[in-house]
Amino acid sequence: MRLEWGAATDRGLVRTMNQDSMVANGKIFAVADGMGGHLGGEVASKIVVDFLTKLEGFAGKQGLFEAVKEANVAVFEHSLTTPELSGMGTTLTMLVPFEADDEFDRDLIEILSVGDSRAYLLHDLDLIQVTEDHTYVGELLRSGRISVQDASMHRAKHVLTRAVGVEPDIEVDLWEIQPYAGDVILLCSDGLTNELVEPQIRKTLIEHTDPQLAAQELVSMAKKSGGSDNITVIVVRVVEASPVAPVEGATAGRGIDSVAPLDRKGASPNEARSKTPLSRITISTNTKRTATTAIPTPIPRREVQRTSLALKILRTTLFLLAVTVVAGVVAGVVDIYAKNSYYVGSSGKYVAIYQGRKGGVLWFDPKLVKVTSVAVASVNQARQVELSSGVVEPSLAAANLFISNLMSEVKSQKQFQSSPTTVGSG
Ligand code: MG
Repeated sequence: MRLEWGAATDRGLVRTMNQDSMVANGKIFAVADGMGGHLGGEVASKIVVDFLTKLEGFAGKQGLFEAVKEANVAVFEHSLTTPELSGMGTTLTMLVPFEADDEFDRDLIEILSVGDSRAYLLHDLDLIQVTEDHTYVGELLRSGRISVQDASMHRAKHVLTRAVGVEPDIEVDLWEIQPYAGDVILLCSDGLTNELVEPQIRKTLIEHTDPQLAAQELVSMAKKSGGSDNITVIVVRVVEASPVAPVEGATAGRGIDSVAPLDRKGASPNEARSKTPLSRITISTNTKRTATTAIPTPIPRREVQRTSLALKILRTTLFLLAVTVVAGVVAGVVDIYAKNSYYVGSSGKYVAIYQGRKGGVLWFDPKLVKVTSVAVASVNQARQVELSSGVVEPSLAAANLFISNLMSEVKSQKQFQSSPTTVGSG
């Protein structure tokens, strides 16, 4: 099998960063559209793409599934150990070419998909959507509960029901394409399909036979249509493929134990095209959930906001805690400072001892400890001035000593009326 390819990615016109990741190297082609907050989406899509790119190869379909299963665990475990990445995930749509060998009797292209990044096949000038969107609306649409018209207007249009990395289990769709020379396969993130309609995509793929030019043109068209999301496009052209007559019926699940062909009511327009060699299987690590008509629980893209809300609460709590600690220390210091200070002043007509500082320290008001029998009027003028501003003493004992001295002064004043400056200090 010989392939030519081109790829382009763009942040778009609205988003501040590009959370899409991609790889196109001939062995693997993949588009991953990350979800999950400021950084989460970018991290998740990059982990998955890097993980898959580093692998030597894939041991058939089961190998593909095993690889994505491991990539899923890698993202999930990373999100558990890094709180700000909690809830991150990514879509994944990948294409892997398999040459005819022991497992495959002819060249085959396998497409694995989780989420709402799509794969299209341009075959004989028909554009066929290969993958199904794993969105809440997509599930409702396929189960016949809403119309195509409703779906395009639906509020929950972008709520994913499957993604890589958000749960320990993963469920993937695997599509098999029998390639013919001239076939073109397009892998893209929803930034393309939300802006362009299928006829535009088809026309562009037909007009631009150079895959790189086609990819660039599609990205630029999506930007012109609004570019409201990151846009990633990979165009793979089949130049040559082993010429073998199409096999009757689907070759579903060879070598895979847990194959669960989707039980669907009537074929989709895609499957109705009998000439298109396309078959699908769904593989899940969750044995409880096989493919049925049950609509899985949506994985809200809003998950992220909840995470950042939790983060904000955590940050606020830590901040408040820090403030509380600082305030506690300040309170302690003030308390110690205030409680270990005494001053001698007056209470009414008498000299008194207070605990604290005159006028108070912050919220700590001075406390009256003792009112003495010494009348303020009985002490000399200089002492009265001192008392009115408060005579600070380092301890209650020191304050008591000051009072004793004051009493001696008063006594000596009475004895020697003429000598107001005599100090009875000894
Ligand atoms: Mg997107």
